[in-house]
Amino acid sequence: MSNLRFKVVEEAFKKRPLDVPAPKERPSEYFGKYVFNREKMFKYLPLATYEKLREVIEKSIPLDLAVADEVARGMKRWAMEMGATHCTHWFQPLTEGTAEKHDAFVEHDGKGGMLENFSGKELVQQEPDASSFPNGGIRSTFEARGYSAWDPASPVFIVGDTLMIPTVFISYTGEALDYKAPLKKSLAAIDRAATAVAQLFDRHVRHVNVNLGWEQEYFLVDEGLYAARPDLLLTGRTLMGHDSAKNQQMDDHYFGAIPERVAAFMKDLEIQALELGIPCKTRHNEVAPNQFELAPIFEECNLAVDHNMLIMSLMRKIARKHGFRCLLHEKPFAGINGSGKHNNWSLTTDTGVLLHAPGKTPEDNLRFITFIVETLMAVYRHNGLIKASIMSATNSHRLGAHEAPPAIISSFLGSQVAELLDRVENSTKDELFTMEGKHGMKLDIPQIPELMIDNTDRNRTSPFAFTGNRFEFRAVGSSANCASAMLTLNTAVAEALTDFRRRVDALMAGGEGKISAILDVLREDIKTCKPIRFDGNGYSDEWKEEAARRGLDCETSCPLVIDRYLDPESVQMYESMHVMNRHELEARNEIKWETYQKKIQIEARVMGDICMNHIIPVATKYQSELVDNVHKIYSVFPPEKAKELTAYNVDLIEKINKHTNFIAENVEKMVERRKEVNRIENIREKAIAYHDDIAPYMDSIRYHVDKLELIVEDEMWTLPKYRELLFVR
Ligand code: ADP
Ligand code: MG
Repeated sequence: MSNLRFKVVEEAFKKRPLDVPAPKERPSEYFGKYVFNREKMFKYLPLATYEKLREVIEKSIPLDLAVADEVARGMKRWAMEMGATHCTHWFQPLTEGTAEKHDAFVEHDGKGGMLENFSGKELVQQEPDASSFPNGGIRSTFEARGYSAWDPASPVFIVGDTLMIPTVFISYTGEALDYKAPLKKSLAAIDRAATAVAQLFDRHVRHVNVNLGWEQEYFLVDEGLYAARPDLLLTGRTLMGHDSAKNQQMDDHYFGAIPERVAAFMKDLEIQALELGIPCKTRHNEVAPNQFELAPIFEECNLAVDHNMLIMSLMRKIARKHGFRCLLHEKPFAGINGSGKHNNWSLTTDTGVLLHAPGKTPEDNLRFITFIVETLMAVYRHNGLIKASIMSATNSHRLGAHEAPPAIISSFLGSQVAELLDRVENSTKDELFTMEGKHGMKLDIPQIPELMIDNTDRNRTSPFAFTGNRFEFRAVGSSANCASAMLTLNTAVAEALTDFRRRVDALMAGGEGKISAILDVLREDIKTCKPIRFDGNGYSDEWKEEAARRGLDCETSCPLVIDRYLDPESVQMYESMHVMNRHELEARNEIKWETYQKKIQIEARVMGDICMNHIIPVATKYQSELVDNVHKIYSVFPPEKAKELTAYNVDLIEKINKHTNFIAENVEKMVERRKEVNRIENIREKAIAYHDDIAPYMDSIRYHVDKLELIVEDEMWTLPKYRELLFVR
């Protein structure tokens, strides 16, 4: 068969044997093998240096350059023993990926030769020539320098022959050009604010940490099929493709047996991730065919973000080794589920957990209620901004598509916690409340032990659900850097807690008792933030109407959602919590609008190219075969009979014409419109024009392309079809 599509499908089917990784020792033995963790610090650093570095990490104090030199020496010794020859600062620019620039561990030895060297200065600071990273105008062209600086809270690690050093990336003037810098500031903000509140309940609390447990969803597609789809290759998603007759309607993929070739990939991925210190725990099939999930055990938020960035690059790399491509796009295929990245978020103190229900004592419960209510206050006050923190050109396909939370932020608490809040709200005296814990459920099934039933129920449709000891922020996109969502949530909660403590202090200064003051403020806040609480079906249309009545942000246009970053209350929040200033926010918004506009522009171009180079030529070729057939029938049969015999084909010929005409006309109109909107200078206006005027063309063109796919002879169709992309593995 001449058709490339048939060839790649055939190849994909026979791709064997499996590349199953060799059996390894137990995970506990190779976990963190390539990480310069505490154990290695202890082994490779002088004791005094080790102690100083530990202080830097635990107490968040700045690192002294003399200490850095000692650390670098030990690190280099370890890295060279492990076979590393290069090092790089590894940072997270606003492109959503990671960036690196490798330098060898060498220097002139002054005698005409080379010597291996790696100094404290190189460890701590580098100046990547970074003028081509997005900076939203922060770095003017005459000052193109950017600096990357080591983050000692995230241990260095080795990939291949390179020592990777996690860093922040900032401009000459100290403004953030990355995700890590503001994330770290947000963690400091929440530490300050939450510690002050936690001390109302326990004066021994010194620190509050944020934990993040992410769940990463992804698709795997055979690499041959992938290569035959220019849209997947260039945009990460299919811009066209008719539904497969069978997709996820049987619910037979979710939690189903993992296909062999995928299992080999997962095993390989997990081994390499564990070696890099990522505590992988869960893997399973997801709802859509060829969709899967990986989740590690939660970690401190900053480290968890780095590990998520690392796992995304590992997934891409290891998938290729197994003949797959890993799709991290939020919506690679229309009509079936997209991919998200649930962010499980919680707070812990150096003395215990803060979000754990129920507390052992009524006082514990009051602390629990306080943190729940102030988190809700944060999400309520900044619901539009929190949505902006997860909004992107790619994630907007998923939000509101009846399989993911809608483009409205609300929070589900479960009936028990909701009732507890109602009781506090309606209480008049300064009473304290208890809450039921897990209870046993005896099952009438032989040999099956009693089950412990949680006190929190679940709601899969809520974008921000309380799940027992954490909130699960489900609207985060699968390809996103978690830091974007986390830093906004942290900052908003820090602001709410700061405000809470200020009001409690004011009441106490006026002579009110502590418990009474706390309850007074809580009663007020429970009332205020009520509109954010929603326990019903987040996918329903009624909810959209109800949410609008409640005054929640219901905007769905990505460029307009991004506006929320520059609302006065958002700027005030970031500035007062010392996370970002107005200038940084403005610069970042420029980048967001530009990224949005460019993504749609690329999609529109790819769509146009495929239509003109694949779809129309193939449809026309098939159409002319039909015309030939009609001619031939007329040459054999009398006209009356021929008319009858060709009726079906003539009808098809006309249909094909209708579709190809529509496609050709609209591709041209889309190109013309693009030329016009490309002249818009203001980047926000341009992004809006791309959203309002360009993106809709793609939907209407797609409709006709998908119709043609159903009509045109299978063997002629060049693009791998959904049924092949989704079921061949
Ligand atoms: P689900 O049932 O939501 O699919 P899991 O029980 O597998 O999820 O947990 C999902 C993630 O939540 C994991 O990364 C897990 O470590 C994390 N997690 C569990 N408890 C907490 C917590 N207190 N704080 C943050 N993350 C947590
Ligand atoms: Mg989950």
